Amino acid sequence: MTGSETLVTHTTCPYCGVGCGVEVTVQDAGQESEKITVNGDKTHPANLGRLCSKGAALAETLDLDGRLLYPEVAGKKVSWDEALDKVATGLRDVVQQHGPDAVAFYVSGQLLTEDYYVANKLMKGFIGSANIDTNSRLCMSSSVAGHKRAFGSDTVPCSYTDLEIADLVVLTGSNAAWCHPVLFQRLRQAKKQRPEMRIVVIDPRRTETCDIADLHLPISAGADIALFNGLLTYLKSTQKIDEAFVADHTNGFDEAMASAEAAGTDLQEIAQRCGLDYKDLTVFFHWFAETQNTVTVYSQGVNQWSCGTDKVNAIINCHLATGRIGKPGQGPFSFTGQPNAMGGREVGGLANQLAAHMDFDPEHIDTVETFWEAPNIVRQPGLKAVELFNAIKRGKIKAVWIMATNPLVSMPEAHAVREALEQCGLVIVSDCMRNTDTVQMADIMLPAATWGEKDGTVTNSERRISRQRAFLSMPGEAKADWWIVSEVARRLGYADAFGYQKPADIWREYAAMSGFKNEGQRDFDVSGLQYVTDVEYSQLKPVKWPYKAANDSTSDHFFSDGQFYHADKKARLIPVQVCNDYVQTGDDYPLALNTGRIRDQWHTMTRTGKSARLSSHLPEPFLEINPSDAGSLKIGNDQLVSVKSQHGQLCVRALVTEKQKPGNVFIPMHWSGTNTSSGTVGSLVNALTDPFSGQPQFKHTPVSIMPLSTAWQGFLLTSETVGQLSFPYWVKQKKQNVMRYEIASDQVVSDWSQLVRALFPVEGDWIEFFDDTSGYYRAALVNGGRLKACLLVATDDTLPDDEWIDSLFAEEKIDDKSRLSLLSGMPPGNVKPAGKTVCACFNVGINAIVDAIKQQKLVSVEAIGKALQAGSNCGSCLPELKEILKDNC
Ligand code: SF4
Repeated sequence: MTGSETLVTHTTCPYCGVGCGVEVTVQDAGQESEKITVNGDKTHPANLGRLCSKGAALAETLDLDGRLLYPEVAGKKVSWDEALDKVATGLRDVVQQHGPDAVAFYVSGQLLTEDYYVANKLMKGFIGSANIDTNSRLCMSSSVAGHKRAFGSDTVPCSYTDLEIADLVVLTGSNAAWCHPVLFQRLRQAKKQRPEMRIVVIDPRRTETCDIADLHLPISAGADIALFNGLLTYLKSTQKIDEAFVADHTNGFDEAMASAEAAGTDLQEIAQRCGLDYKDLTVFFHWFAETQNTVTVYSQGVNQWSCGTDKVNAIINCHLATGRIGKPGQGPFSFTGQPNAMGGREVGGLANQLAAHMDFDPEHIDTVETFWEAPNIVRQPGLKAVELFNAIKRGKIKAVWIMATNPLVSMPEAHAVREALEQCGLVIVSDCMRNTDTVQMADIMLPAATWGEKDGTVTNSERRISRQRAFLSMPGEAKADWWIVSEVARRLGYADAFGYQKPADIWREYAAMSGFKNEGQRDFDVSGLQYVTDVEYSQLKPVKWPYKAANDSTSDHFFSDGQFYHADKKARLIPVQVCNDYVQTGDDYPLALNTGRIRDQWHTMTRTGKSARLSSHLPEPFLEINPSDAGSLKIGNDQLVSVKSQHGQLCVRALVTEKQKPGNVFIPMHWSGTNTSSGTVGSLVNALTDPFSGQPQFKHTPVSIMPLSTAWQGFLLTSETVGQLSFPYWVKQKKQNVMRYEIASDQVVSDWSQLVRALFPVEGDWIEFFDDTSGYYRAALVNGGRLKACLLVATDDTLPDDEWIDSLFAEEKIDDKSRLSLLSGMPPGNVKPAGKTVCACFNVGINAIVDAIKQQKLVSVEAIGKALQAGSNCGSCLPELKEILKDNC
């Protein structure tokens, strides 16, 4: 696009599985004055105009910093032809010498459905291996396996509106306030309108989601099966079983009940097994028993266990036993993590599925083979993520193609993944970024288009398919993933089957496949969209599947007729038992590590890490620990600690909080080798997997923790490039004008002057201050009157706020007063530091909030919103604002 026109594009947020619609306005496209703004799309049914802090900051993440813009082979820029030839030759050679199973693809829920479909087709129909798995394996494959066992299909029966009309919403293993913020906002609003609606949160941590909960059950880690089995027996003893539904529409009730009863039905004992207060447990059971309109939401806290599938079925059992499924405001509802995790499930992105929700049974294999006219159709499931990287490490897989994901950070036992890639004969990585931990391991780097440049579809947690539309041209030589895969397919001799010219071509084929030989036996059917024209595809409004005929908007609820997808059309209750056959905490590793997301970051921060305001809420990796554990380990708040497991070690800052249950600790998943010295939590996590789903157990790894002493701590702000830092602890953070590095060491530095000059061997004058007695060192590099870098170090914890220093970098010339301020570590004038950012939308720091509460005598979050705007946009910070109010009123 060119000229000074204003273009408005309706597309979809690239982050979580809520799948919010966004409206992007590009003003003065292609001009120096180009301005891009992102707002929530009021017409999109997922969010109705709302966005969370991450979605609201999308416009700040569109720069080309760090982008991979050209194909590279062995570190050298090459033409696309050369790179694609190398990929095709490499794959062909491996297949010829070692067979198709010596090749693997590892793909991602960040891919669009069209990209996913083409990659899956190439692998499973033409190369002839099912060794294609996706990073969605790590987040929701236990839900898939649980659905299939219960329903005979991977069907999510609920819709977002069910959350709003339910009388009881149970959130278990789901910190929706931070991980699915817009759904949380919808729930908050529903509760405000109907205060009688009840919300129960089941989570070992008192997360922000508890802000709207009537009841929080701080369950012992891993006790979900004990809880839901206990609930099942309670439902029987209180005559709440829907006998007619069970008899007419299910099988396995007696076995499931017997299994639940075998563990004991005494409520006191169940409460004890779950680590819960007896009264709280009975309140929850009573509410569930009495409330027909109940939705149970579950997410990674349930899925990411070595018994995740059984946990899912324990939940579904309770809904089937009460007939609460397939009706408005009722049902088990799994929230997906990634923007297109659901789309990946639909196209067969998991190694144990075929395309369009088909399985590895002879009939479906035949259907797929016929539809694709596939010369090399697979007949057996392939390796799931953990098995796949193990096979690379063992030398069974000799070539791997990784697309749009960063397994070196996100996989458990991350060091083993590194070792696997180090010795793999051919590592191909398609990515939009140049410097991720995984891209650094690639023999061949392929520059992929990213959000804003890509065109296709995604499916959200409620089965709603939305368009992602391009509003930017692809920079450098970046290409769409479907194009890259199709070009390789052509070079492998499959030009006829991969002759796509545009995403709409792929969509039509995929939609047709979903209806091929599908007389209602398969849930996934979007064949009503198989004849869309290019224009209709381009204008496609968000639509839920199934969509079997043109203009078909079908029912919002699967299973409303009590018909399921097992051969007898009945659902299955699955007998499940508490499983403790994973490594427990003990003397060497006494605390249980839990991992998860934080409010303002997404995955490994390659995009959200570009936004200064998103990076300011929680700028360092941290360990949440209960005060009792911290006390016995002599760990203070904000102190650096070493965390060790059987698999690795890392260094993070302690966050001592009552929200964490004693005996449990929590570390977020976002930091990687590119933005911290050792914050990659995947290096600690055990690679235990669920036997049905293959999903790894990210929610429980035994660890030990030790306080670390430091000789000094400091920070470095710089607009200059710094090389690899050798400090034992460093964390990189984007500020408004510069990069910030938090640094610390247990080693005394004998000559700071020499150290800073070695760090920045560039032109300029250094101004320095060193106090030998206190150990303070402050230095600034000034070139042409402009501040280029500064370093502030202290031997105690008296480092100044850095916001005012960051602002000095924007000045053309820093004056003498500013120089003096830098050396004294005091802001010029009477500027009060903003403190930690609480509201990312309006960049409001904690000090401003506390001041306003005290000075203006504010007593509600609404009043804070009026005074400072904080909390008045996406609402993600409302729980934090309430806590600040509580502490300062
Ligand atoms: Fe994006 Fe936030 Fe919506 Fe998720 S909730 S899709 S991250 S705007």
